[in-house]
Amino acid sequence: MGLRVLLMLIGALLCLGGTQGNAADYPSKVITIIVPFSAGGPSDTIARLLAQTMSAPLKTQVIVENVAGAGGTIGAARVAQAPPDGYTLFVHHIGHATAPALYRKLTYSPITDFEPIGLINDGAMTLVARKDFPVKTLKELIAHVKANKDKVNLANAGVGSASHLAGLLFMTEIETDLTTIPYKGTGPAMNDLLGGQVDFMIDQTTNTTSHIKAGKIQVYAVTTPQRLPSMPEVPTMHEAGLPNYRMTVWHALYAPKGTPKPVIDTLSKALQDALKDPNLKQRYSELGAEGVAQDRATPEALRAHLKTEIDKWGPIIKKAGVYAD
Ligand code: ASP
Repeated sequence: MGLRVLLMLIGALLCLGGTQGNAADYPSKVITIIVPFSAGGPSDTIARLLAQTMSAPLKTQVIVENVAGAGGTIGAARVAQAPPDGYTLFVHHIGHATAPALYRKLTYSPITDFEPIGLINDGAMTLVARKDFPVKTLKELIAHVKANKDKVNLANAGVGSASHLAGLLFMTEIETDLTTIPYKGTGPAMNDLLGGQVDFMIDQTTNTTSHIKAGKIQVYAVTTPQRLPSMPEVPTMHEAGLPNYRMTVWHALYAPKGTPKPVIDTLSKALQDALKDPNLKQRYSELGAEGVAQDRATPEALRAHLKTEIDKWGPIIKKAGVYAD
C-alpha cells in the first residue's frame, strides 16, 4: 500500500470516528432554537420557556434566535438549510402545516426537509380588541365590523401565521372581508393593539392573558371547543355567536433533515423531561398553553400529526383561494 493510500485511509477513519464522536458527545456546545416570529410573541414565549428548561437535561445552554417574516417561512427556510448537527433547532406552530398550501413558491418541504422531534403544547386563541373598542360582546363586535368594514382593521403575523388563519376563519364565518395589517409576529402587533393603532386580532392566550387580566385590552371569546380554566368567564366562539368556529394551535420542535437519530432521540428525551418540569407546566398553564402528554412529545407522534394537519388544512385553504408568493 502506497503512503498516499495509507494517509487517505487514516483520514477516512479519523473522519468516521469524528462523526460518531460528535453524535456520542452531543451536545458539547450551545444549541440555538430558531423561532420564525418576532421576540415577545407567543411562539417566542413558548420557545424561550422550553429552551431554559431543556438546558438542564441537555447540560448545555439552549438559546433562541428570532428569524421573523413571511408568516414563519423565512425562519423555516433558514433551518431547512442549516447543518444537520443538532445545534440548530426549530420551534414552529400550526403554520408549518399550512405553509405548503398558502405559499406558491415555498423553497422547502415541512416533511422532507425537517426531522420531527416532538409536539410541545396545545394552545387557545382569543379574540381581543383595543381597550376602547366600542362593543362589549362578540355579537356586537360582528355587527360593528360588518357595518364598518372599511374602517376597522385586523392585525396578524403575516400569511400562514396562526393569527392569519384565525382571522381567515373569522372573515369566512361572518362573510365579510376586512382590512388586515400584517406584522412579523404578534408581539409587535400586540404593542400596536395596546397603543390603539389597530382595532382587533385573534391571538394565542400566551400573548393576550396578562394584558386581558390587567384590563389593557378587551376579550370577547376563546377559539377552543371548551372554555379555558385560566379565564372561565370568557365564552367560546361557538357559545358567543359563531357555531362553527373552533381552532387550537400547536407548537412543535424540529431539526434539519439528516440530523443523526441518536441526536434526535437525545433531544426528544430532553423535550419530554422539560415538559415534566413543574415550573414549565405551571408557566405554560398560566398562559393557557398546555404542554402535551409524554407520548406526543415524540418524533413519531409529531410526524403523524404534521401529516394529518397538512391533509386537513390544504383543501380548506385551496377552497378559500388564499395564497402568497
Ligand atoms: N402568534 C403569532 C401567530 O399569529 C406568531 C407569533 O408571534 O408567535 O402565528
